[in-house]
Amino acid sequence: MFGTKRQRERRHCIEVMCVEDRRTHLIDDVMVAAAARTGRLMAECGRSVLAAALAEPLGPLCPLCAAVREGSRSSVPSPRAATR
Ligand SMILES: [Zn+2]
Repeated sequence: MFGTKRQRERRHCIEVMCVEDRRTHLIDDVMVAAAARTGRLMAECGRSVLAAALAEPLGPLCPLCAAVREGSRSSVPSPRAATR
């Protein structure tokens, strides 16, 4: 068996370009599997992405997806979190 290590903490996202806004969005692996039925991918920014052909070069990264990725990187609680 494969075993489930500690991968739940660190999600893996793939980059997919949307044909509608020509931007590259980050899609969680789990969402990719779910899209097999609908054909649409739910990006990290909340956008419903209609994937472009995989042969196409990626467009500029969606700023919201980029922000989500940055946020997940620094998910370790910082001492400043308590201050307002
Ligand atoms: Zn996005």
